[in-house]
Amino acid sequence: MTFFIPEEKVLEIQNAADIIDIVSESVLLKRAGKNHVGLCPFHSEKTPSFTVNPEKQIFYCFGCTAGGNVFSFLMKHEGISFPEAARALARRYGIELPTGNISAAQKRVMSEREQILVANKHAVDCFSHALLSDSAGRKGLKYLSERGITGNTLERFGIGYAPEGWSNLMHHLARKGVPKKLLEKSGLVIENKQKNVFYDRFRNRIMFPIFNTGDQVIGFGGRVLDDSLPKYLNSPETPVYNKSRSLYGLNVTKQKCREKGLAFIVEGYMDLLALWQNGIENVVATLGTSLTSEHVRVLKGYAEKVILVYDSDDAGLKAAARSISIFDSGHLDSMILVLPEGYDPDSYVFEFGAEAFMKNAEKAIGPVDFLMESAIKKYGLSVEGKVRIVSAMKEHLAEIQDSVARSLYIKKMAEKLGIDDSAIMEKVRRAMNTKRSGSNAKSLLRREPGASDKRHKAWNGSATPTESYQMEKKIIAMMLQFPQVLSEIRRQEILSFFENGGLKKIGISILEHKGDSNRMVSDLIAIIDIPQERQLVASLAIEEGRWDIEGCLKLINKQFMASIKRKPSDLWMKIKEAEAQNDQEQLELLMQRLKDRKKIQNKLKFAGGKAL
Ligand SMILES: [Zn+2]
Repeated sequence: MTFFIPEEKVLEIQNAADIIDIVSESVLLKRAGKNHVGLCPFHSEKTPSFTVNPEKQIFYCFGCTAGGNVFSFLMKHEGISFPEAARALARRYGIELPTGNISAAQKRVMSEREQILVANKHAVDCFSHALLSDSAGRKGLKYLSERGITGNTLERFGIGYAPEGWSNLMHHLARKGVPKKLLEKSGLVIENKQKNVFYDRFRNRIMFPIFNTGDQVIGFGGRVLDDSLPKYLNSPETPVYNKSRSLYGLNVTKQKCREKGLAFIVEGYMDLLALWQNGIENVVATLGTSLTSEHVRVLKGYAEKVILVYDSDDAGLKAAARSISIFDSGHLDSMILVLPEGYDPDSYVFEFGAEAFMKNAEKAIGPVDFLMESAIKKYGLSVEGKVRIVSAMKEHLAEIQDSVARSLYIKKMAEKLGIDDSAIMEKVRRAMNTKRSGSNAKSLLRREPGASDKRHKAWNGSATPTESYQMEKKIIAMMLQFPQVLSEIRRQEILSFFENGGLKKIGISILEHKGDSNRMVSDLIAIIDIPQERQLVASLAIEEGRWDIEGCLKLINKQFMASIKRKPSDLWMKIKEAEAQNDQEQLELLMQRLKDRKKIQNKLKFAGGKAL
């Protein structure tokens, strides 16, 4: 696992890193006894089942069973490899890593992402230099100052300028040793395959670098200085840039979003900069794409509530309709704010100031209310109007998954329209049924028959957990949580009676672990290669259990050993089978197990039932 990073460095990083620190970057954590809990970033949930244990430096989600140590968290959350996660942590905690012994081939495969990040960083420097220190950037600077953007904002957001010309950036990056093929992968350069030439993607544009929350540049947005089209040009999707989960400005504004528990979501770069510069610093921007459930999942780590800001009723309506299902399944409170006609957040805040903007924000309402009021405005309250309103609203109401919320909205609407709520309920139910039968058909098509069941079975040895599997799991949990019992486990050679190979292996690793017992779980996770085993270790270690030596001995002797004594001799059947098939390897294994079993039975006899 620790491919190019020496073992001792991995341990050094692990000792320096704090999982609460790292997880808190993207998940709102609250203390709950020994653990910290929060809403899981890996699946949708309403009540927190994502648990982090600072003492053991591990996390586990009781909802989706994701679990591991600080490395596994970063890998899963950022979608990166182990060496990348290790390097990111090393950077953060100021630990130097050797780079010498990486072969050129390894470097190519392993760090394409990292090389793109480096190229992006060079590009930011190049654009920034052009804007601030080069005569070519003068018109860019003039444009920005006319729009009211200050020097401080330019600096904080790393804004730059891509001058006219086809190869300014390409030449700059070539001087920095970045190969052309990589530039194309980074989206900074385009290849014209017919003519076999490369050229800069961004020309004569104000450049807005897009950062991830770890302050790495993952992409760019470029805006023209005049009315030519396209007004905005964004980086394409690359190995480091995924527009449906990236939010512009979050790297700068995340702290404020946390403090306020609220984030404004605007559409454009300039909107975000305008609000930020006017003191409304809890704001993010989606980038030329409508809000996705991925965005919501990211935002959930920074705020409990969001206000979507739009510049027209039309845009607000579209967003409101979409956001019902996105926010409902993401479990984040959302409100819609439409600014007075003719204004976007940028022009509004520059003309009327932050206070007026915040006054408006108080009028923001939930998406369902927003849709309802718009429908009333549009169709009026005549009999015919009411029929149309119900017909327009039934699909939206059917999107709401929480049945309590849904029936409350229906009641509210019935009161407003002066009609019976059972009539609306009936319409909504019908809409839900149509929707459900549609999605059922889809999910049947998508389903791979039992793929994950099979994997699970292969690892567990059987599809349904047997009594002995449960017991063995309990013993491993005990070993992980109560190291005082390890000497007894060793003395009685308990692991030699384990039937489940995976659990036995974990048990052996626990016994072999040296060093700080607090770090044991995290250390183990670092050396286990199979994801299911890693998750199992995390789950067993984090389970709330109270152990004392008396209870442990009872589990070992009265339950585990007694069950072995009781066990019918299925071993003989297996031995006969192996003989018939002439499977020498299996035979040897079974004979060893038989010997072990005899040994323990003798021991139990010798104890004369005293321990039992
Ligand atoms: Zn989860």
